[in-house]
Amino acid sequence: MAVDMATRLDRVLGAKTARVMAEQLGLHTVRDLLRHYPRRYARRGEMTRLEDLQVGDRVTVLAQVRKVTTRKMRNRPGTLTEVTVGDGAGSMQLVFFNRKHANLREGAWGLFAGTVGEYRRAKQFAHPDCHLMTGDDDEDWARALIPIYPATKDVSSWVIQRSVKLLLDATGGFGFVEDPLPEEVRARHGLPGLAAALLDIHRPTGEEDVERAEQRLKWDEALTLQLVLAGRRRAATLEPGIARPRRPGGLLDAVDAGLPFALTEGQRAVGEELARELAREQPMHRLLQGEVGSGKTVVALRAMAQVVDAGGQAALLAPTEVLAAQHARGIRALLGPLGRAGELDGDPAGTRVALLTGSLKAAARREALAEVAEGRAGIVVGTHALLQETVEFADLGLVVVDEQHRFGVEQRDALRAKGSRPPHVLVMTATPIPRTVAMTVYGDLETSTLRQLPSGRGGVRSSVVPVRDRPAWLDRAWERLREEVAAGRQAYVVCPRIGEEAGAEEEPGDADGAPAEEGGDERRPPLAVLDVAEALREGALAGLRLEVLHGRLAPEEKEARMRAFAAGDVDVLVATTVVEVGVDVPNATVMVVMDADRFGVSQLHQLRGRVARGRHEGLCLLVSEASGGSATGQRLAAVAATSDGFELARLDLETRREGDVLGAAQSGRRSGIKLLSLLEDEQLIAEARAEATALLATERGLADHPGLAAEVAALATDERATYLEKA
Ligand code: ADP
Ligand code: MG
Repeated sequence: MAVDMATRLDRVLGAKTARVMAEQLGLHTVRDLLRHYPRRYARRGEMTRLEDLQVGDRVTVLAQVRKVTTRKMRNRPGTLTEVTVGDGAGSMQLVFFNRKHANLREGAWGLFAGTVGEYRRAKQFAHPDCHLMTGDDDEDWARALIPIYPATKDVSSWVIQRSVKLLLDATGGFGFVEDPLPEEVRARHGLPGLAAALLDIHRPTGEEDVERAEQRLKWDEALTLQLVLAGRRRAATLEPGIARPRRPGGLLDAVDAGLPFALTEGQRAVGEELARELAREQPMHRLLQGEVGSGKTVVALRAMAQVVDAGGQAALLAPTEVLAAQHARGIRALLGPLGRAGELDGDPAGTRVALLTGSLKAAARREALAEVAEGRAGIVVGTHALLQETVEFADLGLVVVDEQHRFGVEQRDALRAKGSRPPHVLVMTATPIPRTVAMTVYGDLETSTLRQLPSGRGGVRSSVVPVRDRPAWLDRAWERLREEVAAGRQAYVVCPRIGEEAGAEEEPGDADGAPAEEGGDERRPPLAVLDVAEALREGALAGLRLEVLHGRLAPEEKEARMRAFAAGDVDVLVATTVVEVGVDVPNATVMVVMDADRFGVSQLHQLRGRVARGRHEGLCLLVSEASGGSATGQRLAAVAATSDGFELARLDLETRREGDVLGAAQSGRRSGIKLLSLLEDEQLIAEARAEATALLATERGLADHPGLAAEVAALATDERATYLEKA
């Protein structure tokens, strides 16, 4: 049979199997099937330890039948079959109603797949799928390692195993597989050919086979990804932008003169780096990462001022209306008369600051659009509304994206397209990015880092409040909050949900929650702002001035409440994660995070950054029902124990799957990244990056490597590429 990687599976497998594989696992072609790697391998003598299984887990175990008993059910007609399976130390109950499995005989070996349930405090599988060894696939069962594939209800691991075997038998050892990796690359890094690697990953004879194969298959993923990124970097350098050199005596000097503080060493150094790059024709593409509170805004503002001085416009894209308004307010205050050119008290040598958000009234919006289009506004601050087609710039020279993790490459590009020539781009993020992520998700950007916080900051102390283990601590937490308010400070109480929703809607734009807990999710719904606020008003915080803030409020209302909080007219703000990003109220010193386990590690770190902004020491209390010993409890303890953002980013990586980090579909199957680990494969990724850059730098690029070019094209155009964009 003539088969190649593009052959559709219904030509090699049964029609029904091919259909469910396509529907449930997204496997359409031979290539899809061969790239559907086992998740792990089962061995005899190694049944997953029972204690490690959680109720609700869907698992496959390899075990031997120990005991089978069938009896009539007492309360209803029919029979109940109980089967004990085991393997060495562990054993487990399987339960079947009205069903007798002919092959379920004592001593038989098989794979059992199902969802772990609980009955009378013992773990059990009800109605598991079983695949018992029969004469037919003896050869498969005799293998030392039995592949366990990501599977679904109708496409079990052994169906996949058998399909791969069918394909193998039909094609004589994957002889049709062409290797996209250039031979030199393979030789340099000691990698086996693709056909051999695929054979080893699907049908290994031992541990070394798996290791060798994985190394090679990871290279496929890393190199393709790095080629896409290197291609983007190159394309960006090919089209020149406009140089925006520094001009003395302008806005930038005025900003510097007006700053109420001295720049930190880091701010100065990064500032110079930016100034140099802006002065070049080649558009800047830079990622600025710096801890929460490290003072990124002023660095961006100085770059924006330089561009305005050079005759261009600068746009600052913020993730929320609250933040956009706060930026506009801050920038206007700092510029003074220089930001009010054209007004009576304005300085004619200055410029204007336009604020463009979705909630502007029609007249104000028209006015802002005109200012931007005519170039009167040199500085334009806004939300997603800036991306709309109706927004035109006279001469867009610099795009600054604040808190990048809420924006994607697409949106960056939409703004970039608004310049007559490609503008310079500065992306800012407070989420520290491990090197591997910088090389992948952000691989088309150069990186600068602000490591130092401005001096005179109080810092934050964090503690976990385990309400199950220590209910009294919560009372103490509210007392602490009252003490701070009595001392003239302010506080946040953060909850995961708004409350009283029509559907079960989450805070918009809040994708990176806590990792899903294993096990059936039968927990109570997360605490809601509206409920908690009401309870506090009447209870623990009675008498304090309390206000709520969340994404469902009208933007003017949000803005008004934020302003009241900033002005000190509100003591306690009960809010969702709308306060996560960039909100700056230095007098706020306490934050109580309710249901803290429902938030991701980085998110918690961001959140508590809100109470580290003034001279006073901040206090962050992470309230959770998780017990201290559980994985969740330990995760929270780790957040409380360190304020090192890089360490937390690593922890975050560990608790989220690679696919999630890369922003892929939950199944991970679209990410194109299946084996590569951002935690463990730093060196491999670095090597692949170097190979990719070198390959593209040659005269012929990928012209001599059509297989590789095809993989790259597939990744770049495929929806899989979205993983690069949704980080
Ligand atoms: P982030 O990096 O989190 O965006 P911001 O730019 O909002 O941080 O800065 C946090 C606070 O620190 C702001 O109130 C800002 O005015 C102040 N700040 C920035 N740079 C300095 C500095 N060099 N010295 C003192 N305070 C500073
Ligand atoms: Mg900020």
